Amino acid sequence: MRKVILTAVIVTLLFFFIPMLLPGPDSAAPKGAVPETTTNNLSGGKKLRVLLDGEIHEMDTNEYIWGVVAAEMPASFELEALKAQAVAARTYAVQKSQLGKANHPDADVCGDSTCCQAYISPEKAAKNWGANAEAYNKKITQAVAETGSQVIVYDGQLITAVFHSSSSQETLDSVEVWGGNLPYLVGVKSPEGDEVPNYHTEVTVAGEEFRKTFLAAHPDAVLGGAPSQWFGEAVRTSGGSVNQITIGGVVVKGTEVRSLYKLRSACFTVEPKENQVIFRVTGNGHGVGMSQYGANTMAKQGKSYQDILTWYYTGVKVENCPENMWKS
Ligand SMILES: [Zn+2]
Repeated sequence: MRKVILTAVIVTLLFFFIPMLLPGPDSAAPKGAVPETTTNNLSGGKKLRVLLDGEIHEMDTNEYIWGVVAAEMPASFELEALKAQAVAARTYAVQKSQLGKANHPDADVCGDSTCCQAYISPEKAAKNWGANAEAYNKKITQAVAETGSQVIVYDGQLITAVFHSSSSQETLDSVEVWGGNLPYLVGVKSPEGDEVPNYHTEVTVAGEEFRKTFLAAHPDAVLGGAPSQWFGEAVRTSGGSVNQITIGGVVVKGTEVRSLYKLRSACFTVEPKENQVIFRVTGNGHGVGMSQYGANTMAKQGKSYQDILTWYYTGVKVENCPENMWKS
């Protein structure tokens, strides 16, 4: 009798559990579920030719986007911020593939952040992430998968989806930084602040070094006497970045000063001392387009990736990439 009951229990258990172990017609992950830890489920879409370490790799667009998001944004960021980054990165990549790149005519994009966008392989990223590797891989895979083929469009065209690390609580007009006026790259308020690591930095340049560097770029500048005599008034953007400043009688852009003295942003103040010049800098990056830390703060406030993208890129739509926007 006991044997019969035991058998009945086992049969009952198998009856309930076997269907759970076998994949059925509905076994596809429900919408919004976290996909597997590999990036395999990102394949099957359009291909891109990606130049990495001197070799061209034909990659699925979303596999490539995974590596860009992993390289360009901390994986600890909120999911909605990572999704915003995925859409921005995809937009940038598709636009690059349309326009072509003189640096690498045989590849659509490369892994160099100074030319295209940074890229890291899943293997290298996992090494950097250590104990968090599995969770971070899943999160970025989810961000890329759930944004499918979405891109950012303005007036029927892909936008140039530039982004930066953190702003001085207000992003900049593209015209202030690069001279080109793009209607969707205009300054907006950005909510990040002191929670950003190294949000405020200080750079001290010896007087003589400052003079040498500046004169190399502007030989007509007059930099005699003490540093206190070198600087005129700075003209600032509404967000506090230096639009232009007079140094040694020469008017220069804040962005040029940033690059000459390797400041993290053009949002700086100058304090001339007896033998040195002290820059106090806020934020990190060129300040145009989406602020990554700002996006993360918005996500923490409950904003979606669409909210984030339409906030930082004025007048745009987020939509599935139309077929004709892909290079054939
Ligand atoms: Zn490139």
